[in-house]
Amino acid sequence: MQIITQKKEMSGISEKLRNEGKTIAFVPTMGALHEGHTSLFDKAHEMADITVASIFVNPAQFAPNEDYNKYPRDIEKDSVLANLHKIDYLFMPDALEIYPIGFSTALHLKNITDKFEGKFRPGHFDGVALIVAKLFNIVHPHYAVFGQKDFQQTLVIKQMSDDLDFDIKIIISPTIRNSKGLALSSRNAYLSEDEQVNASIIYQAMEEAKAAVLAGERERKKINTILHHRLRTVAGLRIDYASAAAANDLSEPDLFYPNELVVIVIAVFIGKTRLIDNTLVTIPAHTSGNF
Ligand code: AMP
Repeated sequence: MQIITQKKEMSGISEKLRNEGKTIAFVPTMGALHEGHTSLFDKAHEMADITVASIFVNPAQFAPNEDYNKYPRDIEKDSVLANLHKIDYLFMPDALEIYPIGFSTALHLKNITDKFEGKFRPGHFDGVALIVAKLFNIVHPHYAVFGQKDFQQTLVIKQMSDDLDFDIKIIISPTIRNSKGLALSSRNAYLSEDEQVNASIIYQAMEEAKAAVLAGERERKKINTILHHRLRTVAGLRIDYASAAAANDLSEPDLFYPNELVVIVIAVFIGKTRLIDNTLVTIPAHTSGNF
């Protein structure tokens, strides 16, 4: 595995590989790598001849009151893990390499960024879209792999990539969880042992709502009530949102229709740590009519 810190070097390597007819799969991350990330590395390996991962804690996607400065960083462990998972090139630029003095460009996506994460973290997705667009230009991959864990982010990236005419296939890979159902996240490092246990309520709430949907519930408000009730059983948990929405555009109809793909999205604070998760469920073709 080769570590690259300069964008010119990264794009030069990519250009050369493409000229040789090699395909490239890219996995952008913010580091503090765990099995969620490495599952994306493995996926990238399945997709293409060459794998590139990036580690960059992107200041543009953090609000001033958020955890940019204390975001976990462990470059040595990360390099070992990336190497173990057969990453060929690990791109680790510093902030000035990406945003030199005088950098002036912003990206803004409409509609999809207005709700859920976008509503609670204004500007967050604009920062995500900006860094991903820049990384796409620098790495110039054929494929880019993202986790379903950040569901709304995958919609934002697909939209940005379409709108800006990137010829890159976006691959979405499933969420990796611990044995209690808690989605792996770099931010889990902030949780105490008790909080880790409490955090599994997120998975339980999603599963309960999913079971209700599979049993015939199609009313969005009733699905949301199930989520809220269950989440509130944990003292000290604060809900930013816990909702069912249409998976294609995050719209919130009163009633979902048969065969519709629904996403259940949750963001909560457990103590001082903010966690997000989601799951997908298809409304059954034939509901019993009892709901
Ligand atoms: P991050 O380092 O948090 O920006 O995440 C980098 C990529 O890893 C994103 O595409 C995330 O969606 C993905 N990811 C994070 N956690 C998980 C997980 N538990 N399972 C699968 N993918 C994940």
